[in-house]
Amino acid sequence: MNIFRLLVLAGIVWLVYKILQRWRIDISRRDSQTPDRFEPMTRCAGCGLYLPSQSLSSSGRCGACEKNRS
Ligand SMILES: [Zn+2]
Repeated sequence: MNIFRLLVLAGIVWLVYKILQRWRIDISRRDSQTPDRFEPMTRCAGCGLYLPSQSLSSSGRCGACEKNRS
């Protein structure tokens, strides 16, 4: 009976190890899919500099060009 118990215990340990391994892979996948890394770049209408589209104003100009305009 002792050997049977040992086998069951080994099976449980193996299962926990496999679950942890899968869990770790899921986390690393989630980290590599962060949207910030693939932010689209847009050209500034004033100076032609490529910047993340979120940092451009609604008129498509960067901060410096927006200042010079007004
Ligand atoms: Zn600009």
